Amino acid sequence: MHGLMMNTPLLISSIMRFADLNYPDREIVSVTADNPNHRYTYRDAFARTRQLANALNKLGVKQGDRIGTLAWNDYRHFELYYAVSGSGMVCHTINPRLYPEQVTYIINHAQDRFLFVDLLVMPLIEKLWPALAGVEGVVVMTDEAHMPASEIPNVMCYETLLASESDQFDWPEFDENTASALCYTSGTTGNPKGVLYSHRSAVLHAYAGCLPDVLAFSGQDCVLLVVPMFHVNGWGVPYSSPMVGAKMVMPGPKMADGEALCALINRESVSIASGVPTIWLALLSYLEQSGATIPSVNRVSVGGAACPRSIIETFDRKYNVSVHQGWGMTETSPLGTIFKIKPAMGELTQDQQYDLRAKQGCGVFGIEMRITDENDQPLPWDGVAFGALKVRGPWVASEYYKLEDGDNPLDADGWFDTGDVATIDPHGVMTITDRSKDVIKSGGEWISSIELENTAVGHPGVVEAAVIGREHPKWTERPLLIVVTKEQQAVSKDELLAWFDGRVASWWKPDDVAFVEALPHTATGKIDKLSLRKQFADYKFP
Ligand code: AMP
Repeated sequence: MHGLMMNTPLLISSIMRFADLNYPDREIVSVTADNPNHRYTYRDAFARTRQLANALNKLGVKQGDRIGTLAWNDYRHFELYYAVSGSGMVCHTINPRLYPEQVTYIINHAQDRFLFVDLLVMPLIEKLWPALAGVEGVVVMTDEAHMPASEIPNVMCYETLLASESDQFDWPEFDENTASALCYTSGTTGNPKGVLYSHRSAVLHAYAGCLPDVLAFSGQDCVLLVVPMFHVNGWGVPYSSPMVGAKMVMPGPKMADGEALCALINRESVSIASGVPTIWLALLSYLEQSGATIPSVNRVSVGGAACPRSIIETFDRKYNVSVHQGWGMTETSPLGTIFKIKPAMGELTQDQQYDLRAKQGCGVFGIEMRITDENDQPLPWDGVAFGALKVRGPWVASEYYKLEDGDNPLDADGWFDTGDVATIDPHGVMTITDRSKDVIKSGGEWISSIELENTAVGHPGVVEAAVIGREHPKWTERPLLIVVTKEQQAVSKDELLAWFDGRVASWWKPDDVAFVEALPHTATGKIDKLSLRKQFADYKFP
């Protein structure tokens, strides 16, 4: 027997309609290449979104067509999120920091009909244009006054396109399983793979994001969106914020600039911010140098890479900001797990809380997780056993978009193998020990590079650290620590190695230290271990 409730489809346009009616005066503040302080309201945003939907219609795009964006976090990108998906097309966000060949591959593989491009990304598109045969035109996300000269035949100006359109538009209704957005994984090996989100997955994921023990957004919040909108829908923040009527602040191209972020936070009274650990390292380092503070901020959500305990502790002790670490990936929309304190954990000392925050957290309702051994058998949640982390749920990818080799990412039981290796403790707290390809295997036992990196970064003289396994004649592999140290603080190799004594099992201690000026990062801000392994390919332990 079916229930007798309305079968209203979960559509992204419904978020917009709700926010338009309920929070029309709530502000959206952006930094863009053409305006360092753009401000308007949800009412203005959604009126322009309707104009944009009309403009898209005139361009002749149809439901299901892919529209590419190469843009930073700002109001025009926000309008595209809603106009493209709301009209039934697919908003294909592209990371402009990927290698140019990857950007070309992604645009051609997705068969994007039009590209909406930030002013600052236009030089890249000019260069790639001869290889983008299927793209019919480029819309530069700026006004007439800032339009660049271009060799591309069909270049349009975003503001001019909107100016002549009516702000009346009836959002179509369709099946909630219709594709809404497309995002390619960074693809450190092989070509990037497309993850195709649906309206249903996006709306359910955004609901989950608002939950008190998840991102905990409320209408009282002012949310700083530092996590890029070109990656995994900006963690769903552009959907969750309008759901609850939170004020939004978007830093545009100033994402990794500690000084600019600090100024924006204080000017707009930001209460909650989300981003990858490297962003918070940049902010903390600016705060330390300048003596500035961020009194309005009470929470920072961090994910995308392991957050060193030292970041968590500094935020709390010095700035009264609690750090909530989460884990997820492009294929999981991305919210999978997040920091949570449960009553069953009993009273926790401050140090125990920091330890807990340095782990990847507990499952969010909607995501089931498990760890399995090499025979695909589930392992116990005892905090000791570690194995392949697998997940399933309504916002987890079931397959990749148009994957030529037809690889099925699901195991025989329908679980998605994340490629991460993890433990889960009896409270359900998951800890990532490594990406499966980064695990260091020493004498048949696994060593967690993440734990070694977190320990190294806890040393007061270390800015950033990476640990990779290198060949060893006796143990197969041993850990090599690669560090960037603070300029003003000389740290010796012996001092760094002694730092691990008593902090990790003695046989985990790295065998050697290499000092470098900077570590390579991937386009999504993670330490690029593939490059490091190439860089240290000929390395031999002393
Ligand atoms: P991406 O699909 O580019 O967002 O990358 C997802 C991967 O980032 C995951 O599979 C993890 O390896 C890593 N990751 C994400 N969040 C965390 C975290 N909190 N701690 C450790 N690794 C993380």
